[in-house]
Amino acid sequence: MSNELQNSMNYELIIGLEIHIQAKTKSKMFCRCDAKYFGASPNSHVCPVCLGLPGALPVPNKKAIELCLKLALALNCKVNKFSKFDRKNYFYPDLPKAYQISQYDLPFGYEGAVSIESKDIRITRVHMEEDTGKSIHSSTKTLLDFNKSGVSLIEVVTEPDFREIKDVLFFAKRLKQIVKYSGVSDADMEKGQMRFELNMSLRKPGEPSLPKYKVEVKNIGSISVLEKVIAYEIKRQSDLLDKGETPIQETRGLRDLTGVTHSQRVKEEANDYRYFPEPDIPPILFTDEQLAAIKNTIGELPSEKKSRYIESFGLDATLAETLISTKPRTEWFEKAIEGADNSLVALIAKWFVGDVIALMKANKVKLSQLKIMPENLRELVELLNNGKISSPIAKQVLSEMFETGNKASIIVAEKGLEVVTDLGAIREIVKRIIAANPKVIEDMKKNPNAYKFLIGQVMKELQGKANPPDVEKAILDELNA
Ligand SMILES: [Zn+2]
Repeated sequence: MSNELQNSMNYELIIGLEIHIQAKTKSKMFCRCDAKYFGASPNSHVCPVCLGLPGALPVPNKKAIELCLKLALALNCKVNKFSKFDRKNYFYPDLPKAYQISQYDLPFGYEGAVSIESKDIRITRVHMEEDTGKSIHSSTKTLLDFNKSGVSLIEVVTEPDFREIKDVLFFAKRLKQIVKYSGVSDADMEKGQMRFELNMSLRKPGEPSLPKYKVEVKNIGSISVLEKVIAYEIKRQSDLLDKGETPIQETRGLRDLTGVTHSQRVKEEANDYRYFPEPDIPPILFTDEQLAAIKNTIGELPSEKKSRYIESFGLDATLAETLISTKPRTEWFEKAIEGADNSLVALIAKWFVGDVIALMKANKVKLSQLKIMPENLRELVELLNNGKISSPIAKQVLSEMFETGNKASIIVAEKGLEVVTDLGAIREIVKRIIAANPKVIEDMKKNPNAYKFLIGQVMKELQGKANPPDVEKAILDELNA
């Protein structure tokens, strides 16, 4: 959908993203309330601090700050070693103290970059703030739930570097992977743990400067809705531009998951928020040693893993990308190849991504529920590679492994699925099949390849328990005898 839309456009797309990510902390950002509020009854995870009662004092969550720095470093940002929190003043019913504690001019991280293969997307800043409460609207009244109020929130802001929809979607996926790999957040979008904000405008191709307007769409809760919103806004904004109008600079919201946006308010400027340093929290200082220690906890990131798989195992890029798509998937794969000969790694990867994942999809089984043990897939591939079983039999064994979780070698032994290596026995069957198919010899006068029909017949007789090249050789030997 995106490619067609992109190609049919008369304008160039300019997109920047802001992403809000709930940090994986036990307690909220500035109080000790339990941060695991999802599904809890309304206003059961609250205290004077996160309710914004007068006189309550915020105490920053050390773990949340470490996670924010970890993400900033994973996104190749510079770090402000002298940093602070600021008050962002605005009134909203779900923000009872009428300001949000955030960061303004000294964010923890700034000037980073994320590679999305075709190009680098510049990261403007990575800062820490607190989440707001939640307003629940019905037809007659609005209810307020403050369980989410004060939950630690990391905001990532990109430069307006996106020109193609597919790049936006790739970046969104990659960022989610980075966040999950590094343990910064579970990034469960269904629970609102990762939300996108789109900044978008269009310009005529070749125009050197950024457009004079920018439309912001808030609270996009999934990557598929993000794609729909972009499609909707391309249509809406190009229709206005086609008529010679300039779209209004404004904030737009969503009513449902269709991607249709509606105007909410004309955009505030930063100075509307009257930012000032948070007087209740002293400035925050980091040492090089602290930063180095945090950097050490990041671990191998998705793009690094992908390059390693390509370089060390000779996997193709698409296969490697599928393998790294989630951390549990790479962990499964890495267990499967443990101790395997390097020449088998690509084969194991293909069986995993191709056959195992196909079985999982077809049966709606998650990786955590998979009965096949990684080492048992390795054994299956070894049996195949050593010529102990044929590839049609390997598929049969795999589906049995999928059902029962048994080892490949046990299934092969119990069911007598090993390849027939007795060439005498194969020759007997070949003779019988040739005798039963005299027409094939006739056909071979016109078409020398007609004998290939016999391979299938012999394989069928042997219930797949032979290597097709062996069978082919036996047939040719017999025909030429
Ligand atoms: Zn609280």
